[in-house]
Amino acid sequence: MNSTLAALPLTRTCQPSSLDEVAALIAEASSRQTAVYPLGGDTSLDYGLPAKVEGWGLSLAGMRRIVDYPARDMTVTVEAGMTMTELAELLAGEGQQLPIDVPHPDQATIGGVVATAFNGPRRYGLGSIRDHVIGIQAVDGRGMPFKGGGRVVKNVAGYDFCKLLTGSLGTLGVITQMTFKLRPLPQQWAVLSTTVADWDQAERQLAALVESPLAPSAIELLSGPAWHGHAALPAGMSGDDSIGLAVFLEGTTAEVAWMRDELQRRWRSDGLTRPVLLEGDHARNALRDMAEFPAGDAPLVLRGSVVPSYTTRLMARARELFPGVSLLAHAGSGTVLMRLAQFPAEGLSRTVVARLQSLAAAGHGHVSVLSNPAAAEMTHQCVWGGIDVPFDVMTAVKRQFDPHNLLNPGRFVYL
Ligand SMILES: Cc1cc2nc3c(=O)[nH]c(=O)nc-3n(C[C@H](O)[C@H](O)[C@H](O)COP(=O)(O)OP(=O)(O)OC[C@H]3O[C@@H](n4cnc5c(N)ncnc54)[C@H](O)[C@@H]3O)c2cc1C
Repeated sequence: MNSTLAALPLTRTCQPSSLDEVAALIAEASSRQTAVYPLGGDTSLDYGLPAKVEGWGLSLAGMRRIVDYPARDMTVTVEAGMTMTELAELLAGEGQQLPIDVPHPDQATIGGVVATAFNGPRRYGLGSIRDHVIGIQAVDGRGMPFKGGGRVVKNVAGYDFCKLLTGSLGTLGVITQMTFKLRPLPQQWAVLSTTVADWDQAERQLAALVESPLAPSAIELLSGPAWHGHAALPAGMSGDDSIGLAVFLEGTTAEVAWMRDELQRRWRSDGLTRPVLLEGDHARNALRDMAEFPAGDAPLVLRGSVVPSYTTRLMARARELFPGVSLLAHAGSGTVLMRLAQFPAEGLSRTVVARLQSLAAAGHGHVSVLSNPAAAEMTHQCVWGGIDVPFDVMTAVKRQFDPHNLLNPGRFVYL
């Protein structure tokens, strides 16, 4: 994958190896009024508004230790620079998992995943990254360490810094350590997929799934050239207008067998024939492909977040606006990822702001830019503009943690 480091105007890069060293570096930067850009695995340093102010890069690569892993308590405490693959391997040794699927897991760090609060396909059934962080340690914009939560699941004292810092894009503190609650690894994995005739049928199938007694870990809708010939999808998925529906199941062998048979029975009675079934490692590979989708090579990647019942409308509109777009929706959660092979001829602002954001707003959501390597038209309105948040409250919180606006300045939603 391409490095996104060049997107930052760095005058030097530091690699501390302890909390004290992180604190000392930020205190020094603060005394010089120098900006600090936290660096994880460099998979999405271009996410957010382009950085304009020169500053120091603070890499977490030297902080990737296991701090505590009491497997019987199903929690783990690790340093922020550990990669998602390293964490997954550690947990698999005890038959456990953190069910967050991200692109490039061998590079993406757990600190970066928490800072960006991206969520993959299994958010629907197993929860978001924010649901799994139960303890956090960070250093604020003055170089002062602080922590929230703890190492046990039942821990409700004080302000919930875990939730505040998750998704704050490194603007409130450099995250140095986190504790997660974990889940058991399932005995069996399966994915069943079929094609639906049109967006109306897709919507009916989604509604039926949500109301059924089935408990899928992910419900995905797929359309566009990126999915042609994919092993997880029926052979009929070839035209750009084809719509695939993939349902991921995980649990004990008996649970997965019951859900698989029940879903096949329901699809047969709805006239959806010849579904494709993948199990075990084949199903896990299909899940990995869905997680990698937004990081595929494309000049522009957009993300729509709407109420789940609006997912198909947003997908249908995106297909009308951008011929050739590849779409993936984590449909149970209302997340629509749009990978555009070409930049819109009418310009990003006009297309995204004027057309998609207003539609998403009707679905109680917004559309934002996930990746735009050329950084064309990356205005606040394009990148964050559709987000309906109390900007003044967020700015006041930011001032408490980072009074001189030195942490990732100008990149997040603050006005
Ligand atoms: C185009 C693209 C689309 C993606 N879409 C999705 C998606 O839809 N769903 C999904 O689950 N994942 C998605 N990801 C993955 C997501 O980028 C990573 O999960 C996450 O950003 C971790 O990456 P990293 O360690 O490489 O962080 P970096 O790329 O190094 O940093 C990302 C941001 O986090 C900040 N940061 C990093 N570490 C820390 C820290 N310790 N403390 C404070 N701030 C920090 C950085 O300053 C930067 O702003 C996408 C990735 C790409 C490239």
